[in-house]
Amino acid sequence: MERVEKITIDTEKCIGCKKCIKACFVDVLRFDETTKKAVAAYPQECEWCLICEEQCSVGAIYVQPKIPAPMFKMSV
Ligand code: SF4
Ligand code: SF4
Repeated sequence: MERVEKITIDTEKCIGCKKCIKACFVDVLRFDETTKKAVAAYPQECEWCLICEEQCSVGAIYVQPKIPAPMFKMSV
């Protein structure tokens, strides 16, 4: 099951240091040689460990989790 809704990389903030790419243990992130920025190439593989967010010194990457649907409705 996919764990994340989407991965956002702010290209204005990203300085292309590749720290997030090196830190991602499931190879979700890649380096775009044209823009010299990180890109989320395989977001469906993301395990939502948030190491990439921790590694980014400029706060350019944000991993948004998928909110699971409620299992049941509360009765009032
Ligand atoms: S949250 Fe973890 S698995 Fe997902 S892109 Fe970041 S480092 Fe990779
Ligand atoms: S760690 Fe941050 S600044 Fe460095 S490449 Fe990744 S998103 Fe860009």
